[in-house]
Amino acid sequence: MVEIKKLVTNLKMYIDGEWRDSENNETRPVINPANSEVICYAPEGTVSDARMAIFAARRAFEEGVWSGISAQERASYLLKIADKIDDYADELTQLETMDNGKTLREAGYDVGDAAACFRYYAGMITQPDGQTYHVTDPMQAMVVREPVGVCGLIVPWNYPLLMSVWKLAPALAAGNTVVYKPSEVTPVTPKRLFEIFEEVGLPKGVANMVMGAGSVVGNEIVSHPEVDMVSFTGGTQTGKHIMKTAAHTMKKVSLELGGKSPNIIFADADFETAVDYALFGIFSGAGQVCSSGSRILVEEKIYDQFVERFVQRAKKIQVGPGNNPSSEMGPLVSAEHLEKVLSYIKIGKQEGATLACGGNRIVKNGLDNGYFVEPTVFVDVKQDMRIVQEEIFGPVVVIQKFKDESEAIKLANSTVFGLAGGVFTNDGAKGLRVIKKLRAGITWINSYHPTYNEAPWGGYKQSGIGRSLGTFGLEEFQEIKQININLQVEPIGWFSK
Ligand code: NAD
Repeated sequence: MVEIKKLVTNLKMYIDGEWRDSENNETRPVINPANSEVICYAPEGTVSDARMAIFAARRAFEEGVWSGISAQERASYLLKIADKIDDYADELTQLETMDNGKTLREAGYDVGDAAACFRYYAGMITQPDGQTYHVTDPMQAMVVREPVGVCGLIVPWNYPLLMSVWKLAPALAAGNTVVYKPSEVTPVTPKRLFEIFEEVGLPKGVANMVMGAGSVVGNEIVSHPEVDMVSFTGGTQTGKHIMKTAAHTMKKVSLELGGKSPNIIFADADFETAVDYALFGIFSGAGQVCSSGSRILVEEKIYDQFVERFVQRAKKIQVGPGNNPSSEMGPLVSAEHLEKVLSYIKIGKQEGATLACGGNRIVKNGLDNGYFVEPTVFVDVKQDMRIVQEEIFGPVVVIQKFKDESEAIKLANSTVFGLAGGVFTNDGAKGLRVIKKLRAGITWINSYHPTYNEAPWGGYKQSGIGRSLGTFGLEEFQEIKQININLQVEPIGWFSK
């Protein structure tokens, strides 16, 4: 196998069908979080680079090179993109691991899902989408869906490829043109995806990619009057800022934000299944998953037994570079994020929580140059502690105790977030009863984490506005128009002649 790093050259942005450096030739290093080596350099886009991309997308939209072709033709591009993702799956998987740090196994699932997402929306866009209404005779009313126009797509670093595809596939399927910004930390697979767009011959100006800082490139996309919609995935604070900025031009916004999701384990649950999923819920992706089950709530009767078993298994997780097949958990994405997670561990100790395991950066076994943190478990926590209320976004979990169903629900809902949640019980009625009381958009009974292109993804409360995936994920990128047709063409006769 060719060493994957040798395949990566310095990156360029893709604007109006051309590969470009930033206007002022500035770059930023892209770092491998497993060893802090520089993978390559990425252009540091400017406001004028962002504007060039916005104007290209606007022109392509107005000329109808994309919205003006049939849905079936657009679908055929999407299907070709999906096939290419499959063709390059091995390379994309390795690139994702190198850039983000996740294990090859995790990255492999993301790549497979990315291809499936393009296929899913290729299928959906060719389905009937209108409605007609029988209104007052002689009027016929109908409703059609149209693209929103130029969509700004801004994504985070935790699923560099998949979060991008969750936006790009439905936005393009619906006939929009896009200005897309990857995270400044993880631009490698996004660039490879845009090479695929070029390879399948996507018309120029339809999909544009600008790299660079959120405060510069991202802010320009959100503020510019020629952008009709912003679809954003990232932190809740950034989401609030984006919503305010977008209000000046009254853009449509869709926000997929942070979480602090509860995973509720009842005493009657299948014990080993619950422990296993609870581990997967927090430590997959090294806890850098928006829907992570970062608050485990356990019924009093089995609390001690659960903590003991959970800690025993957490200590056994093999932490190491994502490209080592024996690694079960990779590093955190960046030095900056490592500092954030370590600072929360310090806060937890200062707040008086008890560390049941972990709590340290890993500096042995050759991992000292990477951003590795031990799977970390806090117990003896109180609901108002910051480590219970705030999103840490790392391999850090709190395990809390509850007496009964109503206390479990109360604790589960007592944060500002409402993204996800799980319940483990062998009482089917109780499981559904509790899930229905959870103020969260993504939920599981006797499972945690699996998600599907078919089902809508998104949060309640401060976890976001709108939904990705499913039919809802397509509708986010569509405007709805009513057309009223007079079947009897004659004057209305309202005013006297
Ligand atoms: P972030 O908010 O720091 O950045 C996300 C993106 O926004 C980046 O591309 C960044 O450059 C850009 N950005 C930053 N400031 C901006 C501004 N002022 N204007 C426009 N764009 C700006 O988030 P992150 O640290 O990259 O990602 C982690 C966060 O993402 C976590 O909170 C996680 O929960 C969330 N997330 C949510 C979901 C979901 O589906 N709800 C999925 C994945 C990640």
